[in-house]
Amino acid sequence: MTSIASVPQTARQLRACLVCSLVKHSDQFRREGCDNCESFLQLKFHPERLSECTTTSFDGYEKQIHLLLFVIIN
Ligand SMILES: [Zn+2]
Repeated sequence: MTSIASVPQTARQLRACLVCSLVKHSDQFRREGCDNCESFLQLKFHPERLSECTTTSFDGYEKQIHLLLFVIIN
């Protein structure tokens, strides 16, 4: 059975997985876990790990995306 990754609806309370940098809403991490790392992070069953395994500071992640787009465009 395949699952479809959901896209965050709002930019508020977005968090990035510290392992794979996947960005989701904090509620989505609690409800679904991380799409890539759930097998070992098990955020669905241990929501208290959310603050340890994800971060709200992902400025660097956004900069990487912009740099990647810049490289692709040029
Ligand atoms: Zn992850």
